[in-house]
Amino acid sequence: MSDVELIKSHLTAYPDFPKKGIVFLDICPILRNPLVFETLITHLVHHITSDTLNRSPTKKIDVVVGLDARGFLFGPIIALRLGAAFVPVRKAGKLPGQTITASYEKEYGMDSFEIQADAIKPGQTVIVVDDLIATGGSAKAAGELVAKQGGKTLEYLFVIELMFLNAASKLDAPVYSIVQSD
Ligand code: 5GP
Repeated sequence: MSDVELIKSHLTAYPDFPKKGIVFLDICPILRNPLVFETLITHLVHHITSDTLNRSPTKKIDVVVGLDARGFLFGPIIALRLGAAFVPVRKAGKLPGQTITASYEKEYGMDSFEIQADAIKPGQTVIVVDDLIATGGSAKAAGELVAKQGGKTLEYLFVIELMFLNAASKLDAPVYSIVQSD
């Protein structure tokens, strides 16, 4: 079985969660199995370091940005493997000190993400990590927070991408996902 098939076989679909009509893809079975979790992290780190984007050697990843909340499950481990900083992007009101805010549209109404004002230095290279990209609203807001600090997002990485929503077209850098779902 390939690593992608192994990861895919550890996703569980829950119909009508968190509300009727939504099929929620749960990544928790991956976390419960150390071999599968390790495979996932190794897959993403290999993708980042294997120069698939033809990055020059000077374009090392300085910062891994993880999105509230499931981006926090993968982001810090990837950051440690890369020798990069980890920076959380959190729902509004959760981070202390001076913060920068970006709003994004959810299914019903708006929501806001925040980043600490001194988290990314101008010119730093960044990758953004989360478990799943649907509409791309949250990833776009995170990208805006990186750009407002002068950071350069090189890529957005996800375990799962819902292809029919075509989120990649909204973002300022390429999307990489391990599992593509219709
Ligand atoms: P977007 O902003 O791209 O529309 O939604 C992505 C966000 O919603 C991510 O933070 C993701 O964790 C969450 N999300 C939406 N649907 C699902 C789902 O089916 N499974 C998981 N694991 N997360 C989801």
